[in-house]
Amino acid sequence: MNTQRKAVALISGGLDSLLAARVMQEQGIHVEGINFYTGFCVEGHTHAIRSKDRKKEKRNNALWVAEQLGIKLHIVDIVEDYKQVVLNPKHGYGANLNPCLDCKIFMVGKALEWIRARDFDFIITGEVIGQRPMSQRKETLPVVAHESGAEDLLLRPLCAKNLPATLPEREGWVERDKLYDFSGRSRKPQMALAARFGIEDYAQPAGGCCFLTDPQYAVKLSDLWASRGSKQYEMDDIMLLKVGRHLRPARHFKLIVSREEGEGNFLRGYRSQYPSLTTISHPGPLALIDGEASDNDVELAARVVARYSQGRDAEEVVLEYVTKEGRQRELRVKPLQPHEIPAEWMI
Ligand code: SF4
Repeated sequence: MNTQRKAVALISGGLDSLLAARVMQEQGIHVEGINFYTGFCVEGHTHAIRSKDRKKEKRNNALWVAEQLGIKLHIVDIVEDYKQVVLNPKHGYGANLNPCLDCKIFMVGKALEWIRARDFDFIITGEVIGQRPMSQRKETLPVVAHESGAEDLLLRPLCAKNLPATLPEREGWVERDKLYDFSGRSRKPQMALAARFGIEDYAQPAGGCCFLTDPQYAVKLSDLWASRGSKQYEMDDIMLLKVGRHLRPARHFKLIVSREEGEGNFLRGYRSQYPSLTTISHPGPLALIDGEASDNDVELAARVVARYSQGRDAEEVVLEYVTKEGRQRELRVKPLQPHEIPAEWMI
């Protein structure tokens, strides 16, 4: 009697991993999905907050893919362990602060631990040769397999025919002839395969699956490290980098100013951790102060916040300053003029 083989698929929520898992299901493999939460994931965060993005779908694409495939999805929080990947990537960063090659190695390594603990047979990813400049090149795919420790337990169904046969192929658990030889950046082969499977609705490919590929986000993260004098972050730091306008008037403090109501509501949730400023006399933003701000710094911060309020042209704007312990103080300031906010403050 043939044993049904079991594979875990790394599910990002995009089309490639969906197809890779589907191809394996077609060959009778029992597939379950694993989705790693790093804290930098793009999905559903700012889209859920900002009103201009309100029309965008807020579904969790990984869960949605699992539902389409009819598979179980395991969402695994790797926030703490993942820090070493972001802070010290052995293979360096891509165009921004994305350590894609180290990230892939790390995730496949985690998936290997996972299958060993659960008696699964192999790992599937939706990687395609040449699809991405850093982690999905012909030279780097073997690096991922080797340095993760997965070796030939890692099968990439979408480009397997361009690669040496893996254990599942050699053992006949899967038929190599029914795998694919996709390569390059074109998405057409994936779209054609999706059409063959009758899959019409899928997440559109973006620049990457996490904020570390976003140039503006990378600038803000670099600024955070520079201001602290060392590379480090906590979950709150990386969440707040996704929200608001960030200005750094001095190395020892910065301001996070909401750009609209949704962001203001989000930032309000952090008032027990950061001093905050809100305009009272005029409608305006909510701002958090990150760092050690003196009274003079707070006054300067209040003048900046006033600038972004509807009282920007008034002689005086009244604000409420609240310390993180909840002590309140009223401030009356003259809003800064545009020329008084140097471009270097904007992060
Ligand atoms: S884009 Fe982000 S999550 Fe995706 S491989 Fe690169 S570093 Fe990892």
